[in-house]
Amino acid sequence: MKLKNSYFVTYKENVKDEEAISGNLLVRGGFIKKNSAGVYMYLPLGFKVLKKIEAIVRDEMNAAASQEVLMPSLIPEDVYIASGRRHLFGSSMFAFKDRFDRSVVLGPTHEELFAVAASAHIKSYKNLPLSLYQFQTKFRDEPRPRFGVIRVREFIMKDAYTFDKDLDGLQKNYDAMVKAYIQSFDKMGLHYRIVKADTGVMGGLLSEEFQAITDIGEDTIVFCQSCDYSANLEIAKRQPSEFVSPAPAKQYSKLHTPNLKTIEQLCNAYNLEPKSLVKTLVYMIDEKLVAVSVCGHREVSSVKLQKYFNASSVELATPAQLVEANIQMGYIGPVDCPIPLLVDEEVLSLTSMMTGANEVDMHFVNVSLLDFSQHDIADVSMVHKHDGCPVCHAPLDIQKGIEVGNTFKLGDKYSKAMNLYYSDETNSLKPVIMGSYGIGLGRCMAAIVEQHHREKGIVWPIHVAPYEVGLLVVSTKDEYAMLKANEVYESLQANKVDVVLDDRDERVGVKFNDAELIGIPFQVVFGKALTHNQVELKNMYDQSTTLVDLNDLTNTLTQLIKQQKENIHG
Ligand SMILES: [Zn+2]
Repeated sequence: MKLKNSYFVTYKENVKDEEAISGNLLVRGGFIKKNSAGVYMYLPLGFKVLKKIEAIVRDEMNAAASQEVLMPSLIPEDVYIASGRRHLFGSSMFAFKDRFDRSVVLGPTHEELFAVAASAHIKSYKNLPLSLYQFQTKFRDEPRPRFGVIRVREFIMKDAYTFDKDLDGLQKNYDAMVKAYIQSFDKMGLHYRIVKADTGVMGGLLSEEFQAITDIGEDTIVFCQSCDYSANLEIAKRQPSEFVSPAPAKQYSKLHTPNLKTIEQLCNAYNLEPKSLVKTLVYMIDEKLVAVSVCGHREVSSVKLQKYFNASSVELATPAQLVEANIQMGYIGPVDCPIPLLVDEEVLSLTSMMTGANEVDMHFVNVSLLDFSQHDIADVSMVHKHDGCPVCHAPLDIQKGIEVGNTFKLGDKYSKAMNLYYSDETNSLKPVIMGSYGIGLGRCMAAIVEQHHREKGIVWPIHVAPYEVGLLVVSTKDEYAMLKANEVYESLQANKVDVVLDDRDERVGVKFNDAELIGIPFQVVFGKALTHNQVELKNMYDQSTTLVDLNDLTNTLTQLIKQQKENIHG
């Protein structure tokens, strides 16, 4: 491409409403432009990167013997009612009426339609296994779109679906998809972890996430510093606490604690460690109030609660709900608890505790577990950094991540709902076993930028760089320099190098800054050295600058690009 007559926009200053580095650099570099909250335009540079990411993923999907299709975005709402997912998506689904008053939605994910498509092909075990995928725009009415193109309301996703006769078959397809993902993300230059996650709205047997490790991710990833244990914070486990035999019952006494409602206030007032207190929170779980007691330094995982109760909704109770149930906000406790009580298993490691007394301005001290109201015990709290690993007991670490991909073992959930059965060797009908696998292309792009940038701009890994080589002519009035630059341009194109020629009538400083902002890995400067038949070659990966003879330039560049492509972790 030659810049002079091309669409090319950059901004020197940081963009005000982009809080993520990636959002900021991508908007400044003219890759994307925000159109409305969580909805972006992909401009020529951004579209080019997106297409490179897509090509990487498509190659790997085809290599995994998956076949490409394209499903509609506009889907009758009934499809999601049939699968039982309409209410789970709730208001995150764009839904409206067509001119005939029929309810339609914009697809947020496509398990249902792929089950329908597969049913046209799958009759018997002879038609299995099967694997299909698409690149398609998804719509989710996110309450809080943010972080540039990381959490958006309209985005392109690669979604793949596999169909098998049994769990062994699913495992084979699942392994093939995981391998395809590893190769795709490696090629994109992403640093990531594969973590166990909640199956969430997908349901099914197993969910794993490919989390790109960054500073700003929306997900929090727990991993072991010693073994390969890794999980999303929502469901991460820790080494179980040592249980102690509880102190004798009925030894507790009441303590007047005026205006001391929080763990922090109590600890400061009585010089206590937060973990020696028990805090009790009240949740509304599927329209039923439940008290949850955890050690004072812990947070409750609402996802663990949701799984424990198999609930569809878990929210902290509102002050109004507490008042209505006659519960004293800030003073609820597990002794004579007025509502059903769930106790986190870590509490079993405490002998003598301070707890709320279910009375304003009152706490109990020297409480024993034997004093608690009737309760159930479960692991419902979140792990902290340095907790012991549940597998090997080494310290756990915590980092932020951006979920760039996910893989689900769905089992027969959708095939049963969508009537996708096959007849087996003995002619009896069995539900098809499904898996589903997503990659968000825009998220990959954002995660790559989060991981590969310097102060002045993006440093794209070679496989996803919008251009591999940039040719910068110091003065476009210098006819000889323009002639040589054009010759090199032709020569690189003939060698299939993705090259851009900056032939704009701009100051050279502007050209340098733009090349660095948009992240061109190899930049060639046509300036003074031309009198010696030489050009300056800037390598943005190692930040070196060398003089190269014009005659050797094409060869040097193709070698550098080749080396960089082979070193896919670069
Ligand atoms: Zn471990």
